[in-house]
Amino acid sequence: MYDVIVIGAGPAGSTAAKVLSEKGYKVLLVEKFKMPRYKSCSGILIKKSMDLVELYFGESTPKSVMCIPTDNRGMVFTDDKGREFCFEQEGVNVWRSSFDSWLATKAKENGTEIRDETVTALCEEKDDYVSVTLHGKDTYTENARYVLDCEGVVGTIKRKIIKDTPEYITTFQTFNKGSIDLNPQYFYAYLQPELSEYDAWFNVKDNLLIFGVAVKDRDKIQYYYDKFLAYMKNRHHLQIDEQTKDEKWLLPHIRPGYHIDYGVNRILFAGEIAGFLNPMGEGISAGMESGYHVACAIADYFEDIESVCANYQQNTKKLKLYMERQWRLVGGMADTFKEMK
Ligand SMILES: Cc1cc2nc3c(=O)[nH]c(=O)nc-3n(C[C@H](O)[C@H](O)[C@H](O)COP(=O)(O)OP(=O)(O)OC[C@H]3O[C@@H](n4cnc5c(N)ncnc54)[C@H](O)[C@@H]3O)c2cc1C
Repeated sequence: MYDVIVIGAGPAGSTAAKVLSEKGYKVLLVEKFKMPRYKSCSGILIKKSMDLVELYFGESTPKSVMCIPTDNRGMVFTDDKGREFCFEQEGVNVWRSSFDSWLATKAKENGTEIRDETVTALCEEKDDYVSVTLHGKDTYTENARYVLDCEGVVGTIKRKIIKDTPEYITTFQTFNKGSIDLNPQYFYAYLQPELSEYDAWFNVKDNLLIFGVAVKDRDKIQYYYDKFLAYMKNRHHLQIDEQTKDEKWLLPHIRPGYHIDYGVNRILFAGEIAGFLNPMGEGISAGMESGYHVACAIADYFEDIESVCANYQQNTKKLKLYMERQWRLVGGMADTFKEMK
């Protein structure tokens, strides 16, 4: 019997696992992919994420997980009228596979048992524990007093527990060799409705130029991507020599009246699957912060499941307010997001 089985070795799951193990609980962290696993991401740790790494992991983000340029100096937004706004802020540029793997290693160093290449298929609540069906080389069950579901955006486990109809944004980004007249130390976001149905972006990782668009209708990916590239060629002298990779992913579509799903009884949610996500898809800080708070709530009220959930909600109130403020700010910047005002 584990005290807690954590599903998903992303920022939410590894932070929670590390905190619980450190407090002496017996934790199993289950990850469906082989570690280090890939995650489509711009990989910008904003200042808040950097601070949370120091606070929860007791050291700063190591250079070994960073890519070039290592420092991110903030975001440049172009609003729907073509006006630029620069938000200067200290940040770092990481490869998510390396960063997330480092977080998981910290959990392991504190006593977490990690099983990668293992898919959680089902969580069934029994009287005072949860039975978890896992598919690794074989199919088998493990039991835990609590399950912490940090499975990220898709939510197959969550949807077996809570009936909901999630809405998604599809992200598409390409990695390219080439040149452009923009500063690689900034993340550029474009909110013009003619360039995407949500946002379009540009950033640099290890000399690769990354261009992305986010759409509500997947059939429109190529249409918007072509328009975005034409815009960058025209406006920023983009020249692409070779495209080395492309990838699609999903983001939750946060809309007015969205709610956070904290969990049911002994099965709790944290990170993106719970609904913690900031504008422009900044979710690492919210993942770590919600993972930390749910872990503390379980540790502090282990024998009292009602207090666990109540305490988790209480301690993430500030995080939820922070998210709402950020969404309102973006809502004022472009018509695409005006419903969030
Ligand atoms: C294109 C793009 C760019 C982004 N850029 C940024 C950025 O620059 N900065 C930022 O802060 N955020 C960014 N984000 C958002 C950020 O990636 C997410 O919000 C963050 O990863 C959420 O963390 P998490 O721990 O909740 O989930 P995840 O990081 O998604 O981790 C979930 C883990 O659970 C595993 N899993 C899923 N199902 C199962 C299962 N059944 N059994 C076992 N394991 C399972 C997955 O394999 C995964 O490893 C971006 C997102 C996208 C799509």
